[in-house]
Amino acid sequence: MSSFVPYGVYGIVGYPLGHSLSPLLHTTAFAELGIPAVLVPWPTPPERLGSFVEAVRLLGVRGACVTIPHKEAIIPLLDGATDRARSAGAVNLLVWKGAELWGDNTDVPGFVAPLRAAAVPASISALVLGAGGAARAAVCGLKEYGFSRIAVSNGTEARARALAADFGLDTVPWDRRAEHQADLVVNATPLGMKGKHEGETPYPAEAFAGRRGIAYDIVYTPLATRFLSEAAAAGWGTIDGRAMFIAQADEQFAAWTGRRLPEAAIRAVSEALGD
Ligand code: NAP
Repeated sequence: MSSFVPYGVYGIVGYPLGHSLSPLLHTTAFAELGIPAVLVPWPTPPERLGSFVEAVRLLGVRGACVTIPHKEAIIPLLDGATDRARSAGAVNLLVWKGAELWGDNTDVPGFVAPLRAAAVPASISALVLGAGGAARAAVCGLKEYGFSRIAVSNGTEARARALAADFGLDTVPWDRRAEHQADLVVNATPLGMKGKHEGETPYPAEAFAGRRGIAYDIVYTPLATRFLSEAAAAGWGTIDGRAMFIAQADEQFAAWTGRRLPEAAIRAVSEALGD
């Protein structure tokens, strides 16, 4: 008789969680590699986050992805956070280090991976649109990659100033972002994302005209956002949010299992994204 292998339970915590592809991606990867585990969605409102972390400890949950709106609030509830999570000010992954529950941030290496793959030179200038958690991870990634000319623009200017102060960046007023001629423009807002912001863009199409650069959208549902199609129409290079999503998930999977995401899991996500 074969020995009984109990299931390892992983999850994703956020609120709401409607659009998450993490359960499909990680559960496909576990199955493909013969690891007896699942990753399930746990929509958890902010006022239950403390109970959630207690439940992780009590039930022996093996690990979890952390997403909006909990990436910052969860840090003080953990036993520790890695240096890159501390500098990003956000955690997107729970992982056990012995008996301690730690937070890490794989959005930072995830953001960098497509820049590295496309051999984008770090000497060019960058403009980051947005100043939330994803923008902070993008800025950490740009710094880590070697960028020295980085500006940030955000609707709520105080938030842009706080991010700029933490990392020594320039700020550009939101209503003047089109005049700031950066070579790499990063959308780190939800504008363009399926749902209430679909069809919107954080950057006017005219601002792409008459010059060349790279538009990087971290939104990945849909893949072809208005921001990227208007950039491509003006002759710009584009990077879509799938590459970052896969790379940050690959780092999460490696932190839990020591294995890389198998092709079948990546294919499952591409199919779900309609690619
Ligand atoms: P967040 O912390 O809530 O920040 C949202 C940012 O977008 C803020 O700067 C906010 O500006 C701005 N924003 C929101 N609505 C806006 C509007 N109508 N007009 C102009 N600016 C607006 O969220 P986040 O964690 O940074 O996530 C942002 C996006 O990144 C989401 O779409 C998320 O799915 C995506 N993301 C993708 C990946 C990936 O792997 N590809 C990873 C992480 C996140 P204010 O400060 O003025 O409110």
